[in-house]
Amino acid sequence: MTAPAAVLDNRARVAQTPAGMARYLRQLPIDGIGAAGQQRLFDATVLVAGVGGLGGTVATHLAAAGVGRLLLTHEGPLELPDLNRQTLMSPDWLGHSRVACARAALHRFNPDVDVTAMDARLTDANALALVAQAQVAVSCRLNFEEREVLNRACIALGVPMIEAAMWGMEYTLTTIVPGQTPCLKCIFPAFPDWDHLGFPVLGAVPGALGSLAAAEVVKVITGMGTPLAGTLLHGDMGEMTFRRIRIRRRADCPACGAPTRGDE
Ligand SMILES: [Zn+2]
Repeated sequence: MTAPAAVLDNRARVAQTPAGMARYLRQLPIDGIGAAGQQRLFDATVLVAGVGGLGGTVATHLAAAGVGRLLLTHEGPLELPDLNRQTLMSPDWLGHSRVACARAALHRFNPDVDVTAMDARLTDANALALVAQAQVAVSCRLNFEEREVLNRACIALGVPMIEAAMWGMEYTLTTIVPGQTPCLKCIFPAFPDWDHLGFPVLGAVPGALGSLAAAEVVKVITGMGTPLAGTLLHGDMGEMTFRRIRIRRRADCPACGAPTRGDE
């Protein structure tokens, strides 16, 4: 059987592409990526805090895009109820480290990506050293304490942070650029009541949100498109409504606000 002309054309283009680029051939024509953007992705390190349904999807699409190095953090073992949404996991890993399972699955998917896994909570003691290695961080933990730790470290080091959160059929997403946009604490000055296990989740929701968050990372690294800086995207996948909400920095924000006279 003769291959269709389009397939032959694609094979010819792969043959003409440098070996390291061939896997990414279909994304190179996108405005703002190209060979230069792809090289930025190869050279980038991204910290993904949390590899559940949300962070696992982010990590998958960053590995697919060819991000050179992923730093993954997530504390604890894989449990059976995780499998309704965590597509990097498999039942034979039940009871074993979830982040180690994510690392193994990502390595099978794209061996070119260097994946470092840390089975631990993010704390003020370890976050700065992790964020210092990254061009972008992605906030996907289920508890607010670790999100605040990551927010503080990203502000201290000037590293952009993609903030993605979901509950049931709803989600929010924004890109925090320290010194330019509202930070996590500007958006949520009080501690939200969602730092507990057992939140409702349908896998398609973190799957969709994780894909959006991965696109934000690629945009920040390559300069392609317009990131959600200063804008909060709210999605309700039950009603299939999507809103863009302008958000503002708080001058009195304890995390990123202007220094007081006593601090100068
Ligand atoms: Zn702030």
